[in-house]
Amino acid sequence: MTDRLTGRLVIATHNAGKLAEFRDLTAPYQLDLVSAGELELPEPEETGMSFEENAALKALAAARASGHNALADDSGLCVEALGGEPGIYSARWAGSDRNFARAMRNVDELLSTKGVTGEAGRRAYFVAVLCLAHPDGSTELFRGEVHGTLVWPPRGNKGFGYDPMFRPDGYHETFGEMPAEAKHGWTSGSEALSHRARAFKLFAERKLGLPG
Ligand code: IMP
Repeated sequence: MTDRLTGRLVIATHNAGKLAEFRDLTAPYQLDLVSAGELELPEPEETGMSFEENAALKALAAARASGHNALADDSGLCVEALGGEPGIYSARWAGSDRNFARAMRNVDELLSTKGVTGEAGRRAYFVAVLCLAHPDGSTELFRGEVHGTLVWPPRGNKGFGYDPMFRPDGYHETFGEMPAEAKHGWTSGSEALSHRARAFKLFAERKLGLPG
């Protein structure tokens, strides 16, 4: 489907941070954004086995309940030497108290337990999948990835989650050391860098057209 999106778009999240990021990303376009949280829609359980399945179940639930197009994202960190873990369980590894210092230490200790030494064994990538769902039940998926190396100890206090231990290829700084504009590649003239910015760029090119 190549139809341009206009009008109301439900952002299928109850997370104020994600909503704010989507508001920034869609600011240049003519869209009437509202979140699933603002509409008091129920939050579906993330029972999928992939980023795609989880993004789709969140977007479909919001599209069906609201009768409007809905956009959801699902994201996480995949560590190659750990068979892609924590992957879709990235948030859960931080526990109910969202302790990412512990989650990062856990990743590092698992790599040590596996006998991984040196940068080559510490390859990882962030994934973000956006799903656009229509009220008729059809869906469209957009996937962004950014590859890099896990550093230890973690560096920087910007960003969130696993940012302080992830150094994207081609950069000296970790995501935790980069201002948001640099992490996402929003500075004028730069390419989309973060997984979320790359997925959003595909979505925007296909569904929104270039900003006027
Ligand atoms: P979800 O998409 O809400 O299921 O959560 C994804 C989880 O993956 C987050 O809680 C973070 O732990 C991690 N994650 C996703 N994107 C990023 C990022 O850009 N930086 C750091 N951690 C991230």
